[in-house]
Amino acid sequence: MNQFGAGGVLDPKFWKRIVMAYIKRLPMPIIESYEWQFDGACNEADPETFFSPQSERGAKRRQREAAAKAFCARCPVVDACLQHALEVRESHGVWGGLNADERRALLGEQPGVAPGTGSIAS
Ligand code: SF4
Repeated sequence: MNQFGAGGVLDPKFWKRIVMAYIKRLPMPIIESYEWQFDGACNEADPETFFSPQSERGAKRRQREAAAKAFCARCPVVDACLQHALEVRESHGVWGGLNADERRALLGEQPGVAPGTGSIAS
């Protein structure tokens, strides 16, 4: 299947299928699906500790991820967080004590590729 239509423009039907696939993996929009997040050790943390700037690499990235994982190591909802991240294929950030590549490895997917898309993840 070619995702590009005439003139090399991304076919909207292809894009819609990708969006639909991700929406289907999200939990139902009821409070019970998300309330574990209220107890997360990261509630008061700077979100930038958990999500890297696109250009971040090397030692700086490892240090930021280590700081994020320190929150996860003392988090009472680490199992629920990781389960959520794996179920919805969170493609960015530290969730449940694992970065995106570690979660892909756990799922048997190729590191550096956004889950289910074949696109390179940032
Ligand atoms: S496991 Fe980590 S990312 Fe998940 S809620 Fe706890 S501290 Fe936040």
